[in-house]
Amino acid sequence: MSRARRRVDRIREEIPIQRVLADYGYDVDPNYDGEQQFSCDLHGDGSDSKPSARVYPDSASWFCFACSATRDAIQTMRDKEGIEFFPALKKLESLYGLSPLPFEEGDYDSTKGAAHGAAKEIAGLLDPSKTFEDDQKRIQRLLEGFTADKSLPMMDTLSLWEAFDKINYYVRKEMLSEENGRVALGKIRKTALEKAKEAAKE
Ligand SMILES: [Zn+2]
Repeated sequence: MSRARRRVDRIREEIPIQRVLADYGYDVDPNYDGEQQFSCDLHGDGSDSKPSARVYPDSASWFCFACSATRDAIQTMRDKEGIEFFPALKKLESLYGLSPLPFEEGDYDSTKGAAHGAAKEIAGLLDPSKTFEDDQKRIQRLLEGFTADKSLPMMDTLSLWEAFDKINYYVRKEMLSEENGRVALGKIRKTALEKAKEAAKE
């Protein structure tokens, strides 16, 4: 089972849907675990004078007859806040005090085989006082500098930016741990500096 799947299951099991609804201001009793009827603001003009929605704590979801949609806590947050799936998982976990689920072998490709071992070893050399975001900003400044002063051939600059964007995407989607993301950023930095050295010689 993927880590995302385990996170979804845990949210459904541990965060009462009626609590999430009450926290969003819906008229439900957060402490009652039976079905309750309430007004939904996610269809039409947002006013729902005849309450169209019903919460089913047993299945950790609610159904709105006017939306004709079933929503769990994650979908509720996505619809209320207009955010994507993974940010919603993260936000629910932190709002309701669920600590990050540990990764398991096979959660993503980069945990497999020797590459993972090597990445882990290099990660041990990372500056522990810095975060992924610190490294991200640092590499971004470096690439911006190279882009601005054209000290690298255009093709190199583009491929470095592409690699940079890809790493950020993988980390944001949690397909890559922040630690491995930092290792990958370090490789971009090394490549960029080597290319700059070569270009200066020519
Ligand atoms: Zn609705």
